[in-house]
Amino acid sequence: MLDIQKIRAEFPILSQKVNGKPLVYFDNGATSQKPQIVIDAEVKYYQEINANIHRGVHTLSQLATDAYEISRGKVQQHINAKFAHEVLFTSGTTHGINLVTNGFASILKPGDEVIVSSLEHHSNIVPWQMLCEKTGATLKVIPMNEDGELIMEAFDALLSEKTKVVTVNHISNALGIINPIKYIIDKAHAVGAAVLIDGAQAVPHLKPNVQELDCDFYAFSGHKMCGPTGTGILYGKEAWLNKLPPYQGGGEMIKEVTFEKTTYADLPHKFEAGTPNIAGGIVLGTAIDYLNSVGFENIQQYENELLEYATKRLLEIEGLKIYGTGKNKASVVSFNIDGIHPYDIGSIIDKLGIAVRTGHHCAQPIMNFFCIPGTIRASFSFYNTKEEIDTMVEAVKKAKTMLS
Ligand code: PMP
Repeated sequence: MLDIQKIRAEFPILSQKVNGKPLVYFDNGATSQKPQIVIDAEVKYYQEINANIHRGVHTLSQLATDAYEISRGKVQQHINAKFAHEVLFTSGTTHGINLVTNGFASILKPGDEVIVSSLEHHSNIVPWQMLCEKTGATLKVIPMNEDGELIMEAFDALLSEKTKVVTVNHISNALGIINPIKYIIDKAHAVGAAVLIDGAQAVPHLKPNVQELDCDFYAFSGHKMCGPTGTGILYGKEAWLNKLPPYQGGGEMIKEVTFEKTTYADLPHKFEAGTPNIAGGIVLGTAIDYLNSVGFENIQQYENELLEYATKRLLEIEGLKIYGTGKNKASVVSFNIDGIHPYDIGSIIDKLGIAVRTGHHCAQPIMNFFCIPGTIRASFSFYNTKEEIDTMVEAVKKAKTMLS
């Protein structure tokens, strides 16, 4: 059992008022709030060990390097990667995905196929489209049903020896649907395709086990899991990371440079050109420690309660429709009210201190599927409460009355 009041006290922003009302923060899918321990770790880095890493013999540089590499080790353990050098620091999920699509530009040929899903965030669509334009490969899309679930029979039918890459998100940001990624990974491997999982929305709720999943790449962002913005991880299997060319050229990623030829550093440095977000990388480790101290089993159990409660309470409102009614869901409720633009509801409830997301959630194909301009998305974290859900439901009712 989680002591929610104690947890809430660890997040200073949660005791703020917004527009004169206590903040109700339900935009966790966009970014999570940060506990004091994470904020303190960022300050401590700059106060005590700030220095550039991997290049100095002086003490501070050693301390910063050690802290950065310890953090890489924490991530390795957290996701159960076989080697620490399979864990690349990035600026976020988007960066990780682009690193991979850039690498595949030298592998794909005209006639090859890339499969994405209809539930993807734009950051897991656009880089693959750009890759297909560059290489002459074809983009195929796994369709979804009215419940927002991917149709696995259609996926099976898309697979062939032409399939070179399959990519899906672990959890959909717009609807909260949890995808059957183990099935997808195994089926894709059976035709020899590589698989990238976009884990951006999964890592705040669960601990991915990349060896058990057997995915080739797993990308995520630190800022959605209580860590700093501008941090992220790309996990890649050693063999794939050795095969792909570097993403960016620069300092740190080389073995030897002459004007005739440059040789590249070993993993992970080959993919980490330039001075990274050192503080962020170190503090991401602190955020992971923090989440593990709360415990992912506790987080999941409590967030499921919030999801069930919010779904039940919201459905009391006449004319309210929830999108993403599939069985397997994370704590996200995406909804609309008959005849009212989501933006109008979002703006009114913001005046009452409630932060939700309105719009297409960077997933326009999903909105096109449902023929809507967008939704109101309430995404819950383990520091939210049922009382906050009650506050939101009352606010939505009020907004509905005002706008009808
Ligand atoms: N994929 C999904 C499923 C997401 O929800 C997000 C962020 N909304 C991203 C990718 C992109 O993450 P970032 O902006 O941190 O790179």
